[in-house]
Amino acid sequence: MSDDLKEALLYEALPDSRVRCNICQRRCEIKPEASGYCYTRFNKEGKLYSFIYSEVSCSMVSPIEKKPLFHFYPGSLWLSLGTLGCNFRCPGCQNWKIAHARLNLNERKVEHITPKESVTLAKRDGCKGISWTYNEPTIWFEYTLDGAKLARENGLLTNYVTNGFITPEALDLLGPYLDAFRVDIKGFSDDFYKKICHVYDFKGILEVTKRAKEKWGLWVEIITNIIPGYNDDEAQLKSIASWIKDDLGEFTPWHLTQFVPHLELSHIPTTPVATLEKAREIGLKENLKYVYLGNVWGHPAENTYCHSCKKLLIKRKGFYISQNHIKDGKCPFCGTTIPGRFS
Ligand code: SF4
Repeated sequence: MSDDLKEALLYEALPDSRVRCNICQRRCEIKPEASGYCYTRFNKEGKLYSFIYSEVSCSMVSPIEKKPLFHFYPGSLWLSLGTLGCNFRCPGCQNWKIAHARLNLNERKVEHITPKESVTLAKRDGCKGISWTYNEPTIWFEYTLDGAKLARENGLLTNYVTNGFITPEALDLLGPYLDAFRVDIKGFSDDFYKKICHVYDFKGILEVTKRAKEKWGLWVEIITNIIPGYNDDEAQLKSIASWIKDDLGEFTPWHLTQFVPHLELSHIPTTPVATLEKAREIGLKENLKYVYLGNVWGHPAENTYCHSCKKLLIKRKGFYISQNHIKDGKCPFCGTTIPGRFS
């Protein structure tokens, strides 16, 4: 790992050389010679620095369907970048090798890719844009902000694959340079968020997601990974669906994905397909128009159907598209405008 340190944005000085980080809603108060909860920001003599500016743990060109974003330039390719660390410590995280890494212990090798180099790579590989994904992008906020500005200058689009725990003020710096926001709404109870994410007030996540759409006009899609016994109850699913409809609109896509056992949740079984289908029914009953199932390759609920005439518009298998009938953002069968951004 590079020894480069980048002074953080949005921190405030406190007495006795302590600082407060205002990048995510934890708003960690950090003592001198210590890191915040995510282990990626270090207080050196009363100044806060990021360890991970330009430090890339994963760099891959992948389809937008992998985020997943289904109504945002379907079939396009994205330079997808991740770093190390996270501001959550979910016990069943599928990307735990990078998300739970302790940066200051140099546990993992990383590649140094500057924002300028990321733009060059995205253009070289014919990508539509840059996606910050794999682990929580908020924790390398300074890097993603610089990358997003350069991407915009170079005609590339950008997206965040996020847990939505960014602060409103950080979102407001990034918003002008971001195009899509794929947000995890992991559950809908204080108990769930406390147990799984160590988050004591998840309402801030809802507010920031609404702000991304209303204030910055970002294209927003929501995902919920259904974990048996944790968030598969009707009350939580109904609450998520109803919140999406009321605060983001009935045309906001909701992705319901199958949980696969990992780490401390290795004893929990894979989500039965019947549970996912029941969750989808709940979403549809709440009047959401686009409710998708994920991690169940070949299931008809991976496809997009026109919300008006119900005809098949996009046929998918996992991350791959075999048919796309949308023309100029419209259903070719009945002429209805399909919500989203389409080439
Ligand atoms: S980004 Fe890291 S240091 Fe900053 S508030 Fe969040 S968890 Fe704490």
